[in-house]
Amino acid sequence: MTTTITSEKKQLKQGMLDNVMRQFNNAADIIQLNNNIRKILEVTNNEFIVHFPVRMDNGEVEIFTGYRVQHNNALGPYKGGLRYHPTVDIDAARALAMWMTWKTSLAGLPYGGAKGGIQLDPTKYSQDELQRITRRFTYALGDNIGPELDIPAPDVNTNAQTMAWILDTYMSTKSPNERSKNLHVVTGKPIGAGGSEGRDRATGYGVFLTIKFWAENKKVDLKNKKFIVQGFGNVGYWAAHFLEKEGAILTAVQDAYGSIYNEDGISTERLLEYVQANKGSILGFSGANTMDSADFFSLDCDICIPAALGNQITVENAPKIKARLIAEGANGPTDVKAEEILLKRGVDIIPDILCNSGGVIGSYFEWLQNRNGEIWQLDEVLEKLEKKMRESFGKVVHKAKSKKVDMRTAAFIIAIERLEETYVQRGIFP
Ligand code: NAD
Repeated sequence: MTTTITSEKKQLKQGMLDNVMRQFNNAADIIQLNNNIRKILEVTNNEFIVHFPVRMDNGEVEIFTGYRVQHNNALGPYKGGLRYHPTVDIDAARALAMWMTWKTSLAGLPYGGAKGGIQLDPTKYSQDELQRITRRFTYALGDNIGPELDIPAPDVNTNAQTMAWILDTYMSTKSPNERSKNLHVVTGKPIGAGGSEGRDRATGYGVFLTIKFWAENKKVDLKNKKFIVQGFGNVGYWAAHFLEKEGAILTAVQDAYGSIYNEDGISTERLLEYVQANKGSILGFSGANTMDSADFFSLDCDICIPAALGNQITVENAPKIKARLIAEGANGPTDVKAEEILLKRGVDIIPDILCNSGGVIGSYFEWLQNRNGEIWQLDEVLEKLEKKMRESFGKVVHKAKSKKVDMRTAAFIIAIERLEETYVQRGIFP
């Protein structure tokens, strides 16, 4: 079976690359970025496309296509997730790799940006097949990833189990005395396989923290504020969990299967239990009613958290959005033109490269522990995460004020300036 891509999906992916380039060029123009450095940052350093065969449960062999794009490594090893989704292709990987460079730079981490994945619909495969696909993909990538070269992590439809398979496969290709030196080839691993306490919730907790910092700044009390979440996976669930603990009310959720609504509130824990028992779908949950997905973003609410795919908030739905704040848990959820509409309407947007950076910061903590043979406690991890996120948030707010720009442009300016400084100090080889 080969995965076909509809023109709608193709548009969505091309849109992401176009969006990230516009965001970059907008910030680069404002700071009058050195033209030579602009040329370097506009392109990706390395792009790998691998085709590999995997035996299916029925004995047939299927050929898969995997991608890994490494955008820039001036600040350190490449870092970024692996996504299993029919929309994964070279342009999607390029766009997402570029966002990773800006995200790691903004967070002050010693990393560059990368992204990749496999073009497939994981619901069509058994766990055994997914394991063989993952292991064979890892083998095909070979030493183009590595603990000091390029460190993948979970993204859409990949999780801690996927990372454990990658780690085990990668380590198995090394000599016995090299094996344990490679524990940090991936982050987001299960605790038993060298993962870190708190990495599971790091992205969603970070999304929550940025909302909390925003509320502190605007003197908004989060108690009883209504919020809606698109995507009830790792990021969406954990963001909702922490917001609910703060007293906010989850009123609607949308996932790949449909949308549900309850204006009195949806219990995040009950919904999680239901989704886990219902093959990942929210549909049929007894604590809410099904609603038309086309009306999701126009629901009455205070906060909207897109935590699924790119290009979800568009010129079509932006004029109808009622939320006062959009917190971008997903990468690239807001189209550039939609953002212009929202900013004109006074809607605040916490940009993805800030809002969901808790994930890569949590990954950095896992990488450091593996590298140093340390094991940190959960409270220690969350405390360090909060400190780093508060620092980044403060920097973005300050830059937005001083340059009189929106938060995304401010975040991009900080990220680009750090890279510019690095290139100016080091020069260009040879
Ligand atoms: P996940 O696979 O755990 O969950 C994805 C969720 O999105 C699922 O509920 C799925 O049903 C839903 N979804 C898929 N297609 C959809 C559609 N067309 N409409 C509505 N919902 C849809 O993935 P995740 O790890 O939570 O990642 C979500 C987003 O957050 C992605 O954009 C990812 O790049 C970003 N992100 C993830 C991390 C991380 O640590 N996992 C870090 C930073 C950013």
